[in-house]
Amino acid sequence: MNNIKTTKLFLALINACMDLLSPVSCPVCKKNLLKFPCPICPACKTALLESKIPPAVTTAYMSKIWSCFFYENIAKNCIHQFKYRQKPNMTAIFQLNIQHLLLTITPLLKNIDIIIPVPLHKTRKHFRGFNQTELIAKILSKNLSIPIKPNILIKTKKTMPQVNLPRQERIINLKNCFCVQNSRIIHGKNILIVDDVTTTGTTLNICAKELITRGAKEIFGFTLAKTR
Ligand SMILES: [Zn+2]
Repeated sequence: MNNIKTTKLFLALINACMDLLSPVSCPVCKKNLLKFPCPICPACKTALLESKIPPAVTTAYMSKIWSCFFYENIAKNCIHQFKYRQKPNMTAIFQLNIQHLLLTITPLLKNIDIIIPVPLHKTRKHFRGFNQTELIAKILSKNLSIPIKPNILIKTKKTMPQVNLPRQERIINLKNCFCVQNSRIIHGKNILIVDDVTTTGTTLNICAKELITRGAKEIFGFTLAKTR
C-alpha cells in the first residue's frame, strides 16, 4: 500500500472515530443533531444564511469575483469541515447561500458560456476523494443551466496551501502550475471560474490569465468565501 493510501485510510479512521465519539452533533456549535437530518443544526444554518455577502471585486484578468460570505466564524468552520474533515455533504448547506447570492447576480451571469472549477493537483484530489470546487460548480451549473467543463484547466504542479502566504509568494507558488487542455472549447467563450475561498484573488487571476491567453473572451469568478 502506498503512502497516500495509508495516510488517507488513517485520516478516514480518525474521522470515523471522532464521529463515533460525537455521533450526531453539529460540527459548528456541538449541539445534538439527533432530530435534524442535516450537516449542521438549524440555528447555525440560519446564521450562515444570514451572513453578510462580501462586495464583488475585480482583478487584472477578471471582470468580477462574487463570494457568498466572509471566511470567518460559522462559514470558516463549515468550509473546514467540507475540505479537511472530508464532508462533501456540506454542499447541502452551501447550496442555500449560493442560491441566495444568485437571486441578485443571475442577470449578470446571462452571457456565461461555461463553468470551470479551479482544479486540484491529481494527488491532492485522490487524497481528499473529491475536488471541493467541482461540487460548488455543480450547484451553480444546476441553478444556472450552464455546463461545467472540469477537464479544460488542469493543475500540473503540487503547491503549498495559499492561505498563509504573503501576496508575492502566492504568485510565485502558483507560477506555471495551471495549463489549458482543449483550448478550442474555450475560444471566444465567457467563463465563470469557481473556487472555495479567495483571499487576494491570486489563484483565480492566474487561472483567468491562462484561459485568456489561450483564447477565452471574458472571465468571472465565484467563490464560497472571501477573507476580509
Ligand atoms: Zn450548530
